[in-house]
Amino acid sequence: MVSETNPTVLEKSENKQGRKVVLSIDDLHVWFELRRFGFGHAGYVKAVDGVTFDVHSAETIAVVGESGCGKSSLMKTILGLYKPTRGKITFEGKDLSGFGTEEMHRYHSHVGYVQQDPYGALPPFMNIHRILEEPLIVGGVKDKDERTRRVRTAMEEVKLTPVDDFLNKYPHMLSGGQQQRVVIARAMVMGPRFLVADEPVSMLDASVRVEILKLLRGLQESHNLSVIYITHDLSTVSYFSERIFVMYAGNLVEKGKVRQLIDNPLHPYTKALLTGTSEPDAKNAESFKEIPPGEPPSLVNPPTGCRFHPRCPFMMPGICDVDFPPDFEPEPGHLVSCWLYK
Ligand code: SF4
Repeated sequence: MVSETNPTVLEKSENKQGRKVVLSIDDLHVWFELRRFGFGHAGYVKAVDGVTFDVHSAETIAVVGESGCGKSSLMKTILGLYKPTRGKITFEGKDLSGFGTEEMHRYHSHVGYVQQDPYGALPPFMNIHRILEEPLIVGGVKDKDERTRRVRTAMEEVKLTPVDDFLNKYPHMLSGGQQQRVVIARAMVMGPRFLVADEPVSMLDASVRVEILKLLRGLQESHNLSVIYITHDLSTVSYFSERIFVMYAGNLVEKGKVRQLIDNPLHPYTKALLTGTSEPDAKNAESFKEIPPGEPPSLVNPPTGCRFHPRCPFMMPGICDVDFPPDFEPEPGHLVSCWLYK
């Protein structure tokens, strides 16, 4: 029996084996106002349009979707760089919107950020020691010896060893994989409880992607980190994610445990994403090749009804193009926003 579910209620009632909720996203909307010309309202880019989920302690989740689906805006709002238009984000029970400068500083010390482009993320004029020391200085660690000790520990954890060989190097003197290890060390140096990893391997050579994913998984396990892994590539998520959320045009269209989603994808968009993916190697770089023709819709004027309907081979006229599909739950914990499962 398929049940229609209020996603907010379902997420809140989930018991992840007693693990407490660390981060809670509740009906999040992130809209950007378009520039006005003359009179009248130019509208909004609805980058995130009603997203709800929880992340538990030591849980890893993946948010998967094409570029332009809203996952970067979601990530930046979680990091406190954008303000929600509606809805809220709570970290360990506290609403981010109520944070002043001090609390936001403290929040950032708990949340590590691994960027997509390691070279662009590292200041070229600082050596590795200075880059890794910077968050500790900003975070108020006054003792220089203590800062050096923590820098060295972070470098050992990401396997930038022997440490003395790297401390005085500059980013351009490192390979792409080594630069990404510095980015990860910088995210870890404050001892975060939570990591946001934004496409952390997409700009690396295929040969080092697996090593970086293994490193992230090892850090997650040894530090009991909660992780949000943002990616366009479903072939890499089973590496260390417990649940997958598939995002399309500002909405989450399918949520479930990794095996549920990989073995039994429900949404036509997820099925298309999965075509041709298996292991994280170079062969699978084109994981979106089987997606039906067409472009992701405009986030200014998204299609009525299901936002995937202009590209969907199963579109039912009069239903899919008219009414927005709620979440249905064909199997426990596996939610899909598609009228096929009513
Ligand atoms: Fe396709 Fe309709 Fe399901 Fe949307 S609701 S994915 S258009 S079948």
